[in-house]
Amino acid sequence: MDFKGQVGIVTGGTRGIGKAIAAELAQKGVNLVVAARTREAAHEVAVSLSTQDVKVLGMKLDVSNAEEVEKVFEATRKEFGRVDILVNNAGITKDGLLMRMSEDAWDAVMDINLKGVFLCSREAIKDMTRQRYGRIINITSVAAFMGNPGQANYSASKAGIVGFTKTVAREYAVRGVTVNAVAPGFIETAMTDVLPVNIKDEMKKLIPLGRFGTVNDVAQAVVFLASPDAGYITGQVIHVNGGMYM
Ligand code: NDP
Repeated sequence: MDFKGQVGIVTGGTRGIGKAIAAELAQKGVNLVVAARTREAAHEVAVSLSTQDVKVLGMKLDVSNAEEVEKVFEATRKEFGRVDILVNNAGITKDGLLMRMSEDAWDAVMDINLKGVFLCSREAIKDMTRQRYGRIINITSVAAFMGNPGQANYSASKAGIVGFTKTVAREYAVRGVTVNAVAPGFIETAMTDVLPVNIKDEMKKLIPLGRFGTVNDVAQAVVFLASPDAGYITGQVIHVNGGMYM
C-alpha cells in the first residue's frame, strides 16, 4: 500500500477506533488532520503521531456544525494543499427505549452521526473531484443491520450512512472517488466499556469468533479501503464483527 504524499482527515480521532485509524494511517506515511470537539485531546494525539516524515495536526471540530467543518477543510487545504482520504468516524450514542427517547436524544445522534457525515463528505468531495482521486470511508455499525434495543436513534443514523455511502459512491465513481463503509460489531472502546458485565457476556455468545473486536481490527479494514490498492471497491460495506452478523 503506497500512501506516499497523501493527506487524510479522521473525524473523532482522539480515542477508540478513530485514534487507531489515525495511528495506522500516520504509520503508513499519510499526513493527517485529527479532529474532535476537544481541542486539547486532538492536539495531544497529533503530537504523539507526528514524526520526521509525517505531519499530523490536531483541530477542534464538531462535525454537526457546517461552519466548523468548512474551517477545518480550509485549514487542511492551506496546510497540505489537498485531501485524499476522509474517514467519517465521529459518532455518539444516546440510548433509550423508544417510548422514553427524547427529541433531543434523537436530534443529537442524527446531527453528529449522519449530518456530520454529509457535511464532511460535501467538503471533501470538492478536493477529490478536482484531483480525480479520493477515498471516503464512513463508520457505520452492526446495529444498522441487526437493530439493537435502546438504539432506535443510533441504528437509524447508522443505516442512513449506508444509503448515503451507496449514493455518493454512484455519484462520484466517474471522478475516481470511492466511497465505502465499515460496520464494526462489538469493539472494546469507551463507548462499550459502560455496558454491564452480564450484557457483555450475553453479547460474546453471539460472536462466532468468540471475542470482542479490537480497535486495530477495525483500523486495518479502514486503512485497506483508504489505500490506492482498493480502487475497484466502491459502495460497499465491510463488516468487522467476528461473524456476529453475516
Ligand atoms: P468513542 O466514544 O471512543 O470516540 C468517539 C470519538 O468521536 C471521540 O474522538 C470524540 O471526541 C469524537 N466525537 C464525538 N462527537 C463528535 C463531534 N460532534 N464532532 C467531532 N468529533 C466527535 O467511540 P468509538 O471509538 O467506540 O466509536 C467510533 C465510531 O465507531 C463511532 O462512529 C461509533 O458509532 C462506531 N462504532 C463503534 C462500535 C464499538 O463497539 N465501539 C461499534 C460499531 C460502530 P470528542 O468527544 O472530543 O468530540
